[in-house]
Amino acid sequence: MKNTYKLMMLAGDGIGPEVMAEVSKLANWLNSNEDIGLELEDELVGGASIDVNKIPVTDATIQKCKEADAVMLGAVGGAKWDDVDYNIRPEAGLLKIRKDLDLFANLRPAIVFDALLDASSLKPDIIQGLDILIVRELTGGVYFGEPRGIETMPDGQQRGFNTQTYTTSEIERVTEVAFDLARKRSKKVTSCEKANVMESGKLWRQVVTNLHKNHTDIELSHMYADNCAMQLLRNPKQFDVIVTDNLFGDILSDEAAMLTGSLGMLPSASLGKTDPSTGKRYAMYEPVHGSAPDIAGQGKANPLATILSFAMCLRYSLDQGALAEKIEQAVQDILNNGLRTADIMAHNCQEISTSAMGDAVIDHIKSILRKAA
Ligand code: NAD
Repeated sequence: MKNTYKLMMLAGDGIGPEVMAEVSKLANWLNSNEDIGLELEDELVGGASIDVNKIPVTDATIQKCKEADAVMLGAVGGAKWDDVDYNIRPEAGLLKIRKDLDLFANLRPAIVFDALLDASSLKPDIIQGLDILIVRELTGGVYFGEPRGIETMPDGQQRGFNTQTYTTSEIERVTEVAFDLARKRSKKVTSCEKANVMESGKLWRQVVTNLHKNHTDIELSHMYADNCAMQLLRNPKQFDVIVTDNLFGDILSDEAAMLTGSLGMLPSASLGKTDPSTGKRYAMYEPVHGSAPDIAGQGKANPLATILSFAMCLRYSLDQGALAEKIEQAVQDILNNGLRTADIMAHNCQEISTSAMGDAVIDHIKSILRKAA
């Protein structure tokens, strides 16, 4: 009997529906050709939900996200909703899903495909073969800490303030995720903070060090976040998994992403708490890019970031690592064969549309299967 899984499909706005259509096409092909059953259910999010429901995500959709094995999201936002009330803007729907599913660990791989070496602003020998994973704490730290605000002081000046705060359990759970992921890779974790100048960083280092006593098969090192920012440019291949807090992770993951050079190629995953009634870990998978209103509806969007996010979903939520590898191999082959969407177009390559790129992924999986037979 086939293993069956439920996927919530939240296409969203702009190019979201275009890139998610390619994931649905691939999932349906896998249903017919591989030993897996994927039940897809579409729901509205972002501006598309505001238009129908007056809010960017409904409680019913959140409930369905909790009941699914995983959530796939396209992108949200667009000029049409720029003037809606701040609390119901499209992005608020995304933040609500992250909060309600307690998605505390954000995974951002930075992988350099040989065929796209020239897209990076770094020298090829520094980034060739790069494959690192940044695990960013997503629900705590200075973006959420209290007190926060802007106040007027007795001398009439204004003072803006935020609070960086982390508890032991918040640090432990994201570090556990990093150690578990490293175990399936090269077993190396670098933990980044500013223990030299911040008490929260000092606690972070202590908690990670203590937790490591239960994970001695993993090589752990500590690095100040500013040094990590430099090392990512100097010698990024020294890293495997980097675990860090919300603020440093925001900056370091964008920096690492740009080592690879192309927004349309970057997948991400956000992992949450485990539901006590089902034993399933909440999770959402989405491309790093936004809704790209400038190219929406023109068949120009690169669907590979979303397809690679789907591969992460297969690996981390559905325990289908072998299928994920086939998809990643297919993407590699396609790029090596010179097929490109407009955003990654290069000399001597062939420009193809969003849906032709989705078809090419399926064709290459077919040829991988033929070779294996
Ligand atoms: P963006 O990522 O949407 O676009 C930036 C540039 O990259 C654009 O030129 C776009 O055409 C290009 N691009 C992005 N994805 C691409 C793809 N898959 N294929 C080819 N080209 C691609 O960022 P932006 O322009 O700053 O934001 C547009 C909207 O998206 C805004 O409303 C913003 O709030 C929203 N946004 C949403 C998310 C999300 O849903 N997670 C993330 C970032 C931005």
